Amino acid sequence: MQHMSTSDIRKKYLEFFAQKEHLVMESFPLVPKDDKSLLLINAGMAPLKPYFTGVKVPPSKRVATCQKCIRTGDIDNVGITKRHATFFEMLGNFSFGDYFKKEIIPWAWEFVTEVLKIDKSKLYATVYFEDDEAFDLWKDTTDIDPTHIFRLGKEDNFWEIGVGPCGPCSEIHYYRGTEVIATVEDFVAASDKDEMTEFWNLVFTQFDKDEEGNYNPLENPNIDTGMGLERMATIMQGVSSIFDIDILKNIIGKVSAVTGKVYGEDAKNDISMRIIADHAKSISFLIGDGVLPSNEGRGYVLRRLLRRAARHGRVLGHTDLFLNRVIEAVMESYGEAYPDLLDRKDYISKIVDLEERKFHETLDSGMEMLLGFIRDTEGSVFSGENAFKLYDTYGFPLELTQEILAEKSMTVDLSAFKKEMNDQRQRARAARGESSYMGSEAAGMDALEESVNTVFLGYTATKAEAEVLHVYTDLGLVETLEAPAQGFLVADATPFYAEMGGQVGDVGMILQENAQVKVLDTRKSKNGNIVHVVEVLSGTLTAGTAQFMVDETVRRSTERNHTATHLLHKALKLVLGSHVNQAGSIVLPDKLRFDFNHFQAMTGEEIRQVEEIVNEEVLKALPVSTAVMNMAEAKASGAMALFDEKYGEEVRVLSVGEFSKELCGGTHVRNSGEIGLFRITSEAGIASGVRRIEAVTGMNSYRLFQEREGILTSLQEILKTGRQELVAKVSAQQAEVKSLHKELEDIRKSASLGHVDTLLASRETVGSVTLVKGALENIEAGDLRELTEKVLDKLQSGVVVLGSVVEDKVNLSVMISKDQVKNGFHAGKLIKEVAKIVGGGGGGRPDMAQAGGKDPAKLPEALAIVNSLLSDQVNS
Ligand code: ATP
Ligand code: MG
Repeated sequence: MQHMSTSDIRKKYLEFFAQKEHLVMESFPLVPKDDKSLLLINAGMAPLKPYFTGVKVPPSKRVATCQKCIRTGDIDNVGITKRHATFFEMLGNFSFGDYFKKEIIPWAWEFVTEVLKIDKSKLYATVYFEDDEAFDLWKDTTDIDPTHIFRLGKEDNFWEIGVGPCGPCSEIHYYRGTEVIATVEDFVAASDKDEMTEFWNLVFTQFDKDEEGNYNPLENPNIDTGMGLERMATIMQGVSSIFDIDILKNIIGKVSAVTGKVYGEDAKNDISMRIIADHAKSISFLIGDGVLPSNEGRGYVLRRLLRRAARHGRVLGHTDLFLNRVIEAVMESYGEAYPDLLDRKDYISKIVDLEERKFHETLDSGMEMLLGFIRDTEGSVFSGENAFKLYDTYGFPLELTQEILAEKSMTVDLSAFKKEMNDQRQRARAARGESSYMGSEAAGMDALEESVNTVFLGYTATKAEAEVLHVYTDLGLVETLEAPAQGFLVADATPFYAEMGGQVGDVGMILQENAQVKVLDTRKSKNGNIVHVVEVLSGTLTAGTAQFMVDETVRRSTERNHTATHLLHKALKLVLGSHVNQAGSIVLPDKLRFDFNHFQAMTGEEIRQVEEIVNEEVLKALPVSTAVMNMAEAKASGAMALFDEKYGEEVRVLSVGEFSKELCGGTHVRNSGEIGLFRITSEAGIASGVRRIEAVTGMNSYRLFQEREGILTSLQEILKTGRQELVAKVSAQQAEVKSLHKELEDIRKSASLGHVDTLLASRETVGSVTLVKGALENIEAGDLRELTEKVLDKLQSGVVVLGSVVEDKVNLSVMISKDQVKNGFHAGKLIKEVAKIVGGGGGGRPDMAQAGGKDPAKLPEALAIVNSLLSDQVNS
């Protein structure tokens, strides 16, 4: 057996199965696509589930992958065992109803013994105890030592989750020990000691388990195998732990460099170092695949791993931020195999920095508080309220608190923790005022409504006759409601849609023999009933028969926007990636608003692509259909479920052709063609990692189009040109304006400079000094200064005093040559007196001064006193 790098093993495996006619597919992202049953991809087969269940047709009946996996269930083993990581890569080959046991067993053996050339005497295989077929195939079609085949029970060698496809499996192991393995007991003991390592699991999916627990044979059984890449590298590199393989060694080395601790010196430190190295990998890949830290779902997994890694930095005595330095090493180890990861490096380190910093700020005070609580705890059960306080105030994930407590043999009172958590959720919900409508609490309507069970008719009808059951106001139940009063009513049935899932409630009219009632809004009550918010326009509303009429124009507009929202959601996933998930949505008659998770602004090109995809699906005039099914069926159908916890067992799946499938209780167009033109009007960020798109459809995009058309037509009229020439014409005009500006500037300059000679000719002598003065027109302050300077330049020695009238203001400028300043003349003092006369003020340096005034008529008078002022200056 020759030493082999991790990257070579990956390559050799995929090549081997490519030769066996497998389609090699790239790793799927860690975030499952269209699969709400799974938080994160945890095995090679997970993203391929639709091919196994037959929901989708696979691109090939044979597929091989190297799949990124996260298993948080193994988190407590990380750093402790030699074979567990939270992030690892799983090599896998899959048969979708194609080859089966008799092919895969010899192939697996061929790969392990002929390609990798692993010493056969070290290899063991296990089969499910009833699976004689697999046992015999090992014995007869490979040259494995027959005493190395063991039969194990269901917990080890049978794969199933609930009902559905399942089957026995066969695992291949590598033995590092020296003792003879003669019996199943020896085998199990060696596994427990970490000397016998499972590295490849071959799953034979041959049954379909039904609700009664029968194992019905599948007509076309499947093969699903998984080999841990890191575990194989451990074998091929002759080391005993996955943390000693090439790509991990580099990361551990970085942890060591950052913390100053030597790996291998102290068993406890080593565990922390391995945890940091492992979690740094998970963090990088999770963020790389679009997960952001949060208190829920995947975001919480990320937060937990990141904070746990940060905490272990403290355990190693390191008190500064450090995770990004370790992530550098992750990039070095994985950048070649995962170029996307490298592309997102800056983004990843930004998120890590933000989150680590946030935790860093509270870590010390949180630890102090935790230790204080521990000191105050009698016995071994830690208060759930305190664990919640740590979570809420200091950002300590529950699992982190538990881990620290476990070191002191303590546990958390979990039910108390959960209660605190629930209370907080409730408070937050109440603060948001969710699912309540005005008057419900005040009037005690809840109890009354319990007897009501409104039938919703609005999926198919917009008009219906129904019985008004109760009429009430903010103050409570009333017999009648007389115009012009406002109030609420519930009925036995209604076509009015109550606000839910982002779609606004319907508006319309309700007519009774003696009443005309306007429906202002329709909402869901706490009991889930449909409540009409009404205004009686005329007559008297009472319980009894009425005609319910939804405003159809408004409803149809809303439906267009709702179906378009589904298309938009799908198109965003296609263009931006599977990390895109709905974060909020409002469907109004005049526009739709869709919030989704994405970490950066969309480019113009991305927006254009999304818009184009939606419009293409609109033009296909796809039929819109609904089906009611249970949650499991909905999941299997690949429907995107958005607010899973809010749905009951029976769910409604809305499909737009084959393009989009989503759980939804709203009302929709019957055919995507009804949507008309779909136009995105804005894209912007609303919170970190959350973007918002607004768009219009139907008549609203037509109106938008008309409005913009109107602007263009006006421009055409103003510019007197055809549509095609508009851009060229505006550009040309802009260029012309610019050059005219320049020209004008030049003219003004030369005009003012043209005064130089005239002014010089008018010079006079005052005592021993030469004076030039003049009253000019329409020269701005800046130009006047320039002119003064030019005149003085030519004069060389002397005093220049100029005034210029611009509209109803006067500009003054004085300059005196250096030699005359020495003789006692002062421009600042001079201008002060002159400016006074024209109703202004000012001053300046001895050689140069500027001022303004408000009285143009006095300019000649002001200039006239210059001579005597100069005489005064020289005399004083
Ligand atoms: P174990 O019992 O050792 O945890 P498993 O039975 O959970 O393994 P499988 O679910 O059969 O493993 O996964 C298939 C392969 O993936 C395993 O044979 C192993 O090589 C690899 N693997 C599973 N879990 C991990 C992990 N946490 N870290 C690294 N590799 C793993
Ligand atoms: Mg396991």
